[in-house]
Amino acid sequence: MPTRAFAAQSPTSPLAPHAITRREPLATDVEIDILFCGVCHSDLHFARNEWGMTVYPVVPGHEILGRVTRVGKGVSQFRPGDLAAVGCLVDSCRTCDHCARGLEQFCMGGPVFSYNGPDRHSGGMTFGGYSEKIVCDEAFTLKVPANLDPARASPLLCAGITTYSPLRRWGAGPGKKVGIVGLGGLGHMGVKFAHALGAHTVLFTTSEGKAADGKRLGADEVVISKDPAQMARHAGSFDLIVDTVSADHDLNAYLAMVKLDGSLVMVGVPPTPQQLSVFSLLMPRRHLSGSLIGGIGETQEMLDFCGARNIVCDIELIRMQQINEAYERMLRSDVKYRFVIDMASLKG
Ligand code: NAP
Ligand code: ZN
Ligand code: ZN
Repeated sequence: MPTRAFAAQSPTSPLAPHAITRREPLATDVEIDILFCGVCHSDLHFARNEWGMTVYPVVPGHEILGRVTRVGKGVSQFRPGDLAAVGCLVDSCRTCDHCARGLEQFCMGGPVFSYNGPDRHSGGMTFGGYSEKIVCDEAFTLKVPANLDPARASPLLCAGITTYSPLRRWGAGPGKKVGIVGLGGLGHMGVKFAHALGAHTVLFTTSEGKAADGKRLGADEVVISKDPAQMARHAGSFDLIVDTVSADHDLNAYLAMVKLDGSLVMVGVPPTPQQLSVFSLLMPRRHLSGSLIGGIGETQEMLDFCGARNIVCDIELIRMQQINEAYERMLRSDVKYRFVIDMASLKG
């Protein structure tokens, strides 16, 4: 099916209209008319080939939420008219040890990401949510709780799961001191989730102007990370810090905040290697880890958690045609706290 989309054609070209082809729904496929798509910093990293792995043209977007228009004969979980969502994953081998454990993002045969991944059907690359519709196997399609505002729920599909997963895995909860570094798309959901899970939540931000929002979103304390005196007050005190920063920064400064046997978990991906002093790990015995989105089952668990607690994202709705300006603002940390594309603007 011919499908309207926005794509980048090279690392330096702005995103612009581009026609793609979506497959006709197969027996287990769901066709979704995309209503909203969140704008993740990974979209920008990919559009500009900052991680050196982009295949052009690239249609970014993996915070996809819309309405089901057609389903294949074998589909049992979705019907036309349902709200449905697709996140960062559209396929995996489904048989390896990691898939069997619900960790499809670490599929040993290679997970298929929603964009810039090898499409098992077309033989080309997958195209993401900056488009009017998507066709996805029902096994990778998620249900959206009816009480959540759809535009504000769409960033849960990446910003939500990417922060929920490490907070759950590393035990954020009552009696734990948890830090979130960076108040952007991921960070603001990290603050909301850490607070909702009952942890003492501390936001580290470089933007003084975000301190009041940090508290409103659920932080018990806000630390301006450029102020060494404020940083020193928290030395060696955290059970867990989740670092969402997208650019170069000093990891050693955050490791210094972690207590014995505590962890600094990286989810932000600065494009260049970061410096680490091994002494930051030795004294006193700290862990440095990473976390990548979450599996399909855990993503549904996160959506259901948000439905039960009425948790959604703080967003600024934009038109598809504003995407290049949105990228520039995201680079200036000027977004409160996630851009979401109203896909009606692409169809109109
Ligand atoms: P974002 O909305 O742009 O937020 C990033 C935040 O980092 C900014 O708002 C800013 O917060 C802080 N920051 C930016 N530049 C900084 C600098 N030079 N020094 C210190 N802090 C800085 O981005 P996002 O969409 O949340 O994504 C964040 C990162 O996570 C990106 O690298 C993205 O690719 C990655 N990501 C990873 C996964 C995964 O599975 N691991 C999933 C999605 C995204 P303050 O203004 O508060 O300082
Ligand atoms: Zn993302
Ligand atoms: Zn697998």
